[in-house]
Amino acid sequence: MRTPIIAGNWKLNKTISEGVALTTALKASVADVNDVEIIVAPPFTALAAVNAVIAGSNIRLSAQDVYSEDSGAFTGEVSAPMLKDVGCEYVIIGHSERRQYFGETNDSVNEKVKAALAYELKPIICVGEQLEERETGQTEAIIEDHVTGGIAGLSDAELLSCVIAYEPVWAIGTGKTATPAQAQEVHSFIRGLLTKTYSADVALQLCLQYGGSVKPENASELMAQPDVDGALVGGASLEAESFAKIVASGQ
Ligand code: PEP
Repeated sequence: MRTPIIAGNWKLNKTISEGVALTTALKASVADVNDVEIIVAPPFTALAAVNAVIAGSNIRLSAQDVYSEDSGAFTGEVSAPMLKDVGCEYVIIGHSERRQYFGETNDSVNEKVKAALAYELKPIICVGEQLEERETGQTEAIIEDHVTGGIAGLSDAELLSCVIAYEPVWAIGTGKTATPAQAQEVHSFIRGLLTKTYSADVALQLCLQYGGSVKPENASELMAQPDVDGALVGGASLEAESFAKIVASGQ
């Protein structure tokens, strides 16, 4: 009942021409896929050019961040109406790199989620524990804090416009993937957590992605878990061939 969602987060990679080349190759490789939602998240500078490449295709556009205000004296920021204007359908919010290096908090994540929803952008809300937190038994407490903080105040319909991406920080860009069982355990915990505030039906409908060193070699096993509904992919989304293989494992 949940369509798998596979998103490629390019992070701080790809010039406009490189992004266009990657997307052109990807578009050809995934042209026949109609049962997976495929998303690319280029840097802001490449959004317009990538949007032109994917026009009319089965690939959707995401930004990697958004600011909570619509406009004004906020040098360097990009707002939800601007992202909508450039063709974005999704926006990644609260990625661990933004929490770690740019001071993102649950409150700022929540403000950004609401700003995105106000412009009908679908937030991909990232949550995840650090290695030390896992090793000291705090995983569920951290996940609960990130999830409840990020989605605070959302209605059923608003929540269902969101995706939650579980990304254990120790697995991002490290080559260390959570085992399918570890991913499933946290995803199932998140779904259970949602039923404290939302109906079981809403919790069942929400798409939960896994992220953290997803590669063609491990994607099928992760996505075979009952509560893993897709993947947020960093490194392996930078080449069309590897990302297309991950997309294929979501089918
Ligand atoms: C990410 O950027 O969200 C991510 C999971 O990166 P990687 O796949 O490289 O670990």
